[in-house]
Amino acid sequence: MRGRKVIHIVGKRPEFIKLAMLYNYIRNNTSLRQMVIHTGQHNSANMSDIFFEELRLPEPDVMLGVRAHNAHEFIGKLAGEITTLLNQEERDAVVLTYGDTNSTLAGALSARRAGMLLLHFESGVRTGDFTMPEEINRVLTDRLSDVHYCCTGENLDNLKKEGYGSVIPSELLWTGDLMLDAFIKIEAGRNRAPGSGSYIAATIHRAGNILDREKLSAIISALNTLHRSMQVVIPLHPHTGKRLREFGIELRCAVLEPLGYHEMKRFLCDAEYVVTDSGGVAREAYFARKRSMVVMGHPFWPEIIRANAAVRCNPETAEILAGFDRVRQLPEIAGHPIFGDGKAAQKISDHLVNYLS
Ligand code: UDP
Repeated sequence: MRGRKVIHIVGKRPEFIKLAMLYNYIRNNTSLRQMVIHTGQHNSANMSDIFFEELRLPEPDVMLGVRAHNAHEFIGKLAGEITTLLNQEERDAVVLTYGDTNSTLAGALSARRAGMLLLHFESGVRTGDFTMPEEINRVLTDRLSDVHYCCTGENLDNLKKEGYGSVIPSELLWTGDLMLDAFIKIEAGRNRAPGSGSYIAATIHRAGNILDREKLSAIISALNTLHRSMQVVIPLHPHTGKRLREFGIELRCAVLEPLGYHEMKRFLCDAEYVVTDSGGVAREAYFARKRSMVVMGHPFWPEIIRANAAVRCNPETAEILAGFDRVRQLPEIAGHPIFGDGKAAQKISDHLVNYLS
């Protein structure tokens, strides 16, 4: 008998990594059929293609190329295009979305419009801060979803507190994090990051930090200062590079092009500390047992901070510099129990097979 079809919708770098873990597990272990819709949000060689190649994903079945002047227009146009595609698919196909991007929300809206079941991985993350587009995307996607796959126990509790699984009928499952699956399974590259000796691995790209000149300038000023005593190495996100040029802000750290997954893992594993505003890198720093600083007013993963593995800072120079002194004093990180056991793909796949039978 032909297995039912799972339609994955992805658009950005972290989604490709999560997709790879689940897609390959489902392909190797079930009779479910799969389709990948790539929304084209990240579409360059070093932000997209390299992840499909390194993580052994096939070419996406559909590659969209929606262009828009702002996020609202993008989500609207994308939802229109995806709905049209879904309407051509078999009615009992299900849609899987990941995380909190504009592609996630557009995918969720489209699945609902097309009358398909919707499954959301990385469900239940909450900051309570609706000035962040990610919070809007994840809360709305959760509300539309039939099944919620959660990375942490706290994510599951957040959903329960909001009435999911009771007042709001839906299935909740703590699967652990597909990013941890990737971190455990995928080998680090062999090349050491440039420079010798200790370094701070830094990534900055969150819209909330880079669109505002003052905030970006405050963060870069702190990184430039830190670089004087310990090398700060940054694989620069293209959006951040663009803003630095527009605002005329000078970055006096060691700058790299964006890295592929293997090189990124090596880069994090060899670092002394991590400074980031990335939800993915904050988790990976913890997986690699690196003490870190999360430059976000409302971090996505407060669990890591409560575990004494990271320090949270607002995007202000003095706060970041003082916070970094606290990072140095954090205790050694013992393990990574918060995000499960590295078998999230298996748990999601097993659930899917049951759910769809
Ligand atoms: N990443 C990468 N190369 C880089 C920077 C990040 O492979 O140069 C990976 C990182 O290891 C993590 C994911 O991309 O797995 C996180 O993506 P990003 O920081 O773009 O997004 P976020 O997680 O903040 O949504």
